[in-house]
Amino acid sequence: MNEPFTHALPILHTLHEHGYQAYFVGGAVRDVLLGREIGDIDIATDATPDTVESLFDKTVDVGKAHGTVIVLLDGISYEVTTFRSESEYEDFRRPKEVTFISSLKEDLLRRDLTINAMAMDIHGDIIDHVGGKQDIERKWIQTVGDPACRFQEDALRMMRAVRFLSELGFELSPKTEAAMKKDKHLLANISVERKKIEMEKLLKGRYCEKAIQVLISTQLYEELPGLETYGLNESLQAFPYYLLDGLEEVWGAFIHLLGLDEAEAVSFLKEWKLSTKVLKEAVAISKYVDCNWDEEKMFEAGEHVLLSSLKITQLKHERRIFFDELEAAKHSYDALPIKKLQDLAVSGKDLMAFRQKPSGKWIAEELACVKKAVLQNQLENRKEAIEEWLIACDQRLEND
Ligand code: ATP
Ligand code: MG
Repeated sequence: MNEPFTHALPILHTLHEHGYQAYFVGGAVRDVLLGREIGDIDIATDATPDTVESLFDKTVDVGKAHGTVIVLLDGISYEVTTFRSESEYEDFRRPKEVTFISSLKEDLLRRDLTINAMAMDIHGDIIDHVGGKQDIERKWIQTVGDPACRFQEDALRMMRAVRFLSELGFELSPKTEAAMKKDKHLLANISVERKKIEMEKLLKGRYCEKAIQVLISTQLYEELPGLETYGLNESLQAFPYYLLDGLEEVWGAFIHLLGLDEAEAVSFLKEWKLSTKVLKEAVAISKYVDCNWDEEKMFEAGEHVLLSSLKITQLKHERRIFFDELEAAKHSYDALPIKKLQDLAVSGKDLMAFRQKPSGKWIAEELACVKKAVLQNQLENRKEAIEEWLIACDQRLEND
């Protein structure tokens, strides 16, 4: 066993010393078998949440009712969850009751996919009651138990299956795929917030193109916000989102490839309940994809939007990022004489004093002219130079 598991071993040892069972479970066990980078490490135990709290110095209650306590060790947080079964489900989404149990096996059987339902003990030995190892070898995504039942219990599992397919490049097992096609409408019962988490991970997956094909072939996309209206097109939306950085870039590329105009993009992203900040940036990024850049457009867009939309333009046409071109764009942006209107050497007040005129619409118009001339390097950003330039403009107008 190696890092980062060894670092978490003291938690398992403490639980053992007090007579409890404790194992590593879920995603971290899957990822170690896959040779992937290990993300968060989750621990499962038969100790109750109150007991877990009492055994460790630093804990955070993040959902004791559902069995989870965070244990902090050297600044790293570990979710320690009591073995549980989720017997009855309400509205195809949430367990009516969580029952704490003492059987690891039962805890593993309630998990969504076979690849996510394995445990590892303190010696590094894998406990696999559901054929998870075999599915990793044959690259299969399938539910633990009958897929139709498991999707009835919690329909989000359909999206999770496609999300893991996107991350791993695996195939759906025939039974899992058939159940998904049959029961896709159950996804309508799931909150947008939960769907969004899976959709964002799906888009960022290395095999997203394959996942988009599956969303289409199973018609699952029809149950996703906005996509029932705008559709999903395999050849258009296939895109290496995983090469992008923030979520604003991912959504920016997605709405651009959907061909949405600004108003449509705003309402689409609102349906996905994006934060205002991410929504605004995504819409701006999308607007500038394929743009013919000049100084004014760079100024309007700002550095982040400029670089993000340029990157998306490159990926759209060439399917790779040209870092030298991004670097050159950054230099051009840095060389702009002003980055915001306030950087102009004259303000609206200065113009009013200079013109001896009361405030009015003319100020914004005149500032826009000055801004344009400064950005195009036709005018120096200095107060006297700008005033001289305005006088020269007036004279030219009089002569015309
Ligand atoms: P990631 O590395 O992306 O976080 P993960 O496998 O850790 O992947 P989580 O969403 O963090 O995924 O869930 C942790 C574990 O909880 C899963 O591995 C799975 O065993 C279980 N799980 C999560 N969601 C469900 C669900 N809807 N139904 C049943 N089990 C689930
Ligand atoms: Mg996780």
